[in-house]
Amino acid sequence: MNITIFNEGRDERRKPEVLEVYPNGIGGVLRDIVLEMEETNLLTIGCLYDEECGLTEDILEKTDVLIYWSHGGNHEFPDEIAKRVQNHVLRGMGFIVLHSAIGCKAFTSLMGTTCTFRYHHDDKEHVICCNPTHPIAQGVDDRFVLEVEETYGEFMDIPKPDDIIFIGWFSSGEVCRSGCTFTRGNGKIFFFQPGHETNPSFYHPQVRKIIQNACHWATPTRKLPKVSEYVAL
Ligand code: ZN
Repeated sequence: MNITIFNEGRDERRKPEVLEVYPNGIGGVLRDIVLEMEETNLLTIGCLYDEECGLTEDILEKTDVLIYWSHGGNHEFPDEIAKRVQNHVLRGMGFIVLHSAIGCKAFTSLMGTTCTFRYHHDDKEHVICCNPTHPIAQGVDDRFVLEVEETYGEFMDIPKPDDIIFIGWFSSGEVCRSGCTFTRGNGKIFFFQPGHETNPSFYHPQVRKIIQNACHWATPTRKLPKVSEYVAL
C-alpha cells in the first residue's frame, strides 16, 4: 500500500503551541501512524510550501491512499493541484480527510456542498461507533473518550454519507457525524472529525487504529484509466 501524506504545515509556523503537542508537526505524527502499519510504503509528506505542494502527478499516480490534514490555508491551496487530487480520487485513489481538511478544495469539490459546520474549542468528545460491522470499525472500541477536542456540531453541510461509522457527542451537548464514508467515481473517501492541531488526539490509540483501518479500506482494488487513455468504441 503506497501512502502519501499531505500536512498543510501552516499552523506549525504560526502557532508554537502546535509543536508543543506535536514536536514533529502534524505530518510527523501522521507519519508515525502510517509507519505502524505493516506492508506500507510512505511515498512523501507534502505541505503547502513545497513545490506543487508535494502532490505531483507522478506521486499521485503511485499513491493508493492520500491522508490529508489542512486548516487555515485551505483557501491558499492551488486550484490546479486540488483538481489533480480530485481527478485521482475519481480514478480510485483513497482519500482520508482529517478534521479541518473538511474545508479543503478537493473535498468540497468532491462533495458539492459547503462542508461548513458549527464549532468551538476545548470540549470533551465521546466517539461512539454506530456501525460496528464496517471495516473501519474493526478492533475499535464501542466508544472512547477524547478529553479535549474541538466540537464540530450539526448541521454539518456534507451530502448524505454512504455510511456513518462514528458519532461524536460533546460535553456541550453538540453531536456530529464524526466518521463518514463517501464514494466518488472509483474512489473511497473517509472523513474523520477529531484532530484539532493543539489537541493530542492523534496519539490516542483508537484514533490511530481508525486511520489505519481507513487506509486499508480505501486502498483501491483497481484504478480507472486516465481520461486520455479511453478509446472510442
Ligand atoms: Zn480544529
